[in-house]
Amino acid sequence: MKRYVLICKNCGAIQKQDLYACSVCGGALYTRYDLSDKRRLSAAIRNANEFWDYAPLFPIEQPHKAVTMKEGFTPLLNAGGLGEELDISRLYIKNEAVNPTGTFKDRCMSISVSKALENGDKALIIGSAGNAGAAAAAYAALAKLPCYVFVPASTPKERIAQISVCGAKVIGVEGGVTDCIRLIKEAAPKRALRNITTAAVYNPFQADAEKAIAYEMAKAMDWNVPDWIIVPVGGGGILAGIYQGYKDLLELGIIDHLPKMAGVQEIGCAPLVDAFEKSSPSAEIEEARSPAGIAVAIMDSFPLDGASALDAIYESGGQALAVSGGELMAGQLLLARTQGVYAEPASATAIAALRRLREAGTIARQDSVACVITGSGMKQMNLTAEYLAEIPCIKADAGAAEELFDALQ
Ligand SMILES: *Cc1c(COP(=O)(O)O)cnc(C)c1O
Ligand SMILES: [Zn+2]
Repeated sequence: MKRYVLICKNCGAIQKQDLYACSVCGGALYTRYDLSDKRRLSAAIRNANEFWDYAPLFPIEQPHKAVTMKEGFTPLLNAGGLGEELDISRLYIKNEAVNPTGTFKDRCMSISVSKALENGDKALIIGSAGNAGAAAAAYAALAKLPCYVFVPASTPKERIAQISVCGAKVIGVEGGVTDCIRLIKEAAPKRALRNITTAAVYNPFQADAEKAIAYEMAKAMDWNVPDWIIVPVGGGGILAGIYQGYKDLLELGIIDHLPKMAGVQEIGCAPLVDAFEKSSPSAEIEEARSPAGIAVAIMDSFPLDGASALDAIYESGGQALAVSGGELMAGQLLLARTQGVYAEPASATAIAALRRLREAGTIARQDSVACVITGSGMKQMNLTAEYLAEIPCIKADAGAAEELFDALQ
């Protein structure tokens, strides 16, 4: 018996076999696990010491053959320094920057590529703003599968380099990440390429990867739940996944309530925030018209998992807010200067949002808060370099050094 069933979001049909889209209507699928064996699953979650220890809650039949680089199981840092700065007494940072390729996408790709091998797939394709592509390329290399990565043509060349170096074929598309994802939808099945894009509509299996972030945080907090979890939103998958993880823990009786979810986007590409502000039904998110901003990892003009993310925000009594480029860069600096954690711009939106929510009083001083730092600042160092002041330069002699110290002190 399978540990999970695949159900169509659109027509509700339960699939008879592992598929990537509904056999009846072509709709998006999601996995639902049988959580009735509470004792066994709770023990698995409580005793886990690495990402793949959660395999009973992953859609993989043979976890011992998983394609893994020890992704996940990232540290939950006690962010006292930052908390002091922002007047929050219990603040945590879930640091996904330490994943093998620098973002949480490694979790999704470990599962996706493992699934592809189980299926006997011979080649992979993905539409990405860069981070999922870099993770796909790395895990494809490990699995010895060819991989095609479609990225926006405007993607910074350092991001492309991280993909190409693993041997994946990178194709630039004149448009945004949403265009890349749309473009490969038709091409993938025709060419027998497995689409491993990190959106549930195209790849329902990877969505389970992000639940583990919740399991890990709960364990690190000794099965306490933060009042707030602040998560950057691109497609919306990570926010929805973390919330689902907490729902699993609730159903298993490991925790007794759910956190409030706050989703953050950048002004200029904030379709989820627009929908939240209008109290729109989650099925009625409108595509952003001319997306623009500096947080390239979350420039999704249409959030493909936005409905699930918005449902999580509504249901939890959470928030959705958009921050400016200036605010998120200030957040990047503040996090680095208080905690030594260098977040990528998309991730630094969480710090900017935290400041806003605290200043508005939405988050109280005594609330416990976790910010998910989704990726590493090393992904986009040029932006920080442009933002920071030039360094002083001196002649290589002792007199010049003395003069400089005198000036600085
Ligand atoms: C992909 C990504 C996000 C957004 O994740 P979604 O699941 O698409 O919402 C946020 N931050 C970073 C660094 C990412 O790579
Ligand atoms: Zn269907």
